[in-house]
Amino acid sequence: MKINKQILHIPPYISTSWDNIVSISTREYHLIITLKNSMIVEIPNLNGQIIELIFDTHAKVLESGTKTTKASFNLSLPQMTNTGYESLYSAMQHDPSQKDASDLPADVLKKIANVAKLFAEEVNIDMPQPEKNCNCTHCQIAKALQMGLGVNPENLDEAVDEADLKFRTWDIKEEGSKLFSVVNPLDQNEHYSVYLGEPVGCTCGNKNCEHIKAVLKS
Ligand SMILES: [Zn+2]
Ligand SMILES: [Zn+2]
Repeated sequence: MKINKQILHIPPYISTSWDNIVSISTREYHLIITLKNSMIVEIPNLNGQIIELIFDTHAKVLESGTKTTKASFNLSLPQMTNTGYESLYSAMQHDPSQKDASDLPADVLKKIANVAKLFAEEVNIDMPQPEKNCNCTHCQIAKALQMGLGVNPENLDEAVDEADLKFRTWDIKEEGSKLFSVVNPLDQNEHYSVYLGEPVGCTCGNKNCEHIKAVLKS
């Protein structure tokens, strides 16, 4: 049996370092050790002195453990912050030499877009603008931000087909054989009947009107 600040060695029940032990307790005359992997080790018939020694040692290990963690945390904090700022700063600069950089992970971009959504409701953020055809970290993040704010930069430059837009502005219903009603969804009073038989016609009087085109396209 070996009980010190490094290990708990009680054969044949357990032999491990304190790192692996979450807690110890007693039930009746059994010592119960809960391990990090959720395993529970029960050790029967230990005498009171040994149980006391085990509790004492565990307490000492816990105390010194907290101290070590705190100290190293304090030491590493300023360093971490600096690198954090640095990488954020460099991430927010358009860098043409990185224009063919690989894509950031999709879930990271998604998170950025979600953050943008949250921010958009709170403040008017000065949105970084992505450069065209650039895949540097800055431009990827800028794109993700725009996406999150509901702007799809992929579609910004695409010329909108005006004819397409017009066709979309009509509600078309089939009224009968080759007969269609064409209604402006924004103004129900503006409606036409289009006949696609012989001869093709529209109640607006034109032979080559957008209503007929709309029906043909539908
Ligand atoms: Zn860029
Ligand atoms: Zn017409």
